[in-house]
Amino acid sequence: MNFNHRFLFIGLVLFTSCVAVSEKDKAPTAAPAATAIMPADSTKSFDNALVDNKKDPSCGMPVTAGVSDTLHFKNKVLGFCSSECKDSFVKDADKIFATIEFKK
Ligand SMILES: [Zn+2]
Repeated sequence: MNFNHRFLFIGLVLFTSCVAVSEKDKAPTAAPAATAIMPADSTKSFDNALVDNKKDPSCGMPVTAGVSDTLHFKNKVLGFCSSECKDSFVKDADKIFATIEFKK
């Protein structure tokens, strides 16, 4: 092995180890972003005293009849009778939010 070959070999080793390190650095950023603030479990009931709206904005049912899903929106806690009602609110959130009656 003459000088030029040895230099090339060392360069190749360094290059390969750099690639290995940068692949490892990328791994933690691949974590999925959390979107759900409250559990979307329709079998769990929330205390209607904790929500800020009087009625489910999607179907008009009073929250006192039961809240099974909630959503944080514009610093308010909104209660919904079901995940379906929450989903229909989310589709047109800004427009429906303007019609909501709040407790305070
Ligand atoms: Zn509803």
